[in-house]
Amino acid sequence: MFSFLKLYYSFLLICLSLFPSFLSRATPKYTLTPVTVTTLIDKNATWQHFDAFLDAGRGSHVRGLWELKKYFNHFGYLQGQNLNFTDSFDESLESAVAQYQANFGLSVTGKLDADTVAEVVSPRCGLADEVHGLGHQAMLHATNHFEYFPGQPRWARPMPITLTYAFSPLHMISALPLPKIKEVFNRSFDRWSSVIPVNFTEINDYMFADIRIAFYKGDHGDGEPFDGALGVLAHAFSPESGRLHLDAAETWAVDFGQEMSKVAVDLESVATHEIGHVLGLAHTTNKESIMYPSLKPRTRKLELTLDDIKGVQALYGSNPNYKFGSLLESDISSNQGTRFSIADIKVTTFLLVLMMWLHI
Ligand SMILES: [Zn+2]
Ligand SMILES: [Zn+2]
Repeated sequence: MFSFLKLYYSFLLICLSLFPSFLSRATPKYTLTPVTVTTLIDKNATWQHFDAFLDAGRGSHVRGLWELKKYFNHFGYLQGQNLNFTDSFDESLESAVAQYQANFGLSVTGKLDADTVAEVVSPRCGLADEVHGLGHQAMLHATNHFEYFPGQPRWARPMPITLTYAFSPLHMISALPLPKIKEVFNRSFDRWSSVIPVNFTEINDYMFADIRIAFYKGDHGDGEPFDGALGVLAHAFSPESGRLHLDAAETWAVDFGQEMSKVAVDLESVATHEIGHVLGLAHTTNKESIMYPSLKPRTRKLELTLDDIKGVQALYGSNPNYKFGSLLESDISSNQGTRFSIADIKVTTFLLVLMMWLHI
């Protein structure tokens, strides 16, 4: 009897010692992640009314369709003058839709099906996409997806390069403290400098900085006016312009736990994307890449993919400290982390069942 009790209490002690450590390790797995907003219900959502064009195809005539043509024109899919656009779904709009679908990894139908409309109304970067024709898309499908601006401009300085950056003394936002914004950009620059021999240093002299970061509302003098909440989130210019602008009308967030707005946009994801443009990367067709053009509200996308890395390293070479396999290694270790947690769950479930059986 004594030995049974001893065994019983030893077992209890083991259970109690294991249980808190399981909780402390596994808790992050169970924290509630923010709900990704896929339906934009905010009244100010710039392109939400494009929902009215659902199921339109060649031959359709829908009131206001000229605005959609303007959209495709702005983002590089449709040639022509905005003033001449009509409400008729003509052949050129059909091919613009088809090219857009190919670029965004959608079924290429040339019609405004639900998936296409959902992507069109998603908030996105203000820069136009790279449009090469459907044959080019198919050719690249299995290989690289990264793109450059015409002429492949980059910061043409001897390696290693140091680029300075500064925040506008006049055009920032008050909703987030400046030190928080600086931290976000610091991490975003680090992400790129870890893979290429380019360093980024903050300076105070805005006019003399290579990269100038500012938040603007509406028309701000560069021919690319911002449009209020959602729609266009930000834009940056190709090398060696260095201008990186964010729409001050967005609900910018650094922590979705604190910023509960349905239309909150993750500043760090957008900053990392725009720095890619500053370095010379254009939009990719790879959905997982940082350089993909759209980003849903309440979504964080921070890690450079191989597509982003290969693209930027083809312009600048590799950071000597960057090991090409480290991305794969980090993938493996994060998977192992998941496996360990599952093992923990199994052990704990087993212990709980046993404890119930022993009436503890
Ligand atoms: Zn972009
Ligand atoms: Zn601008």
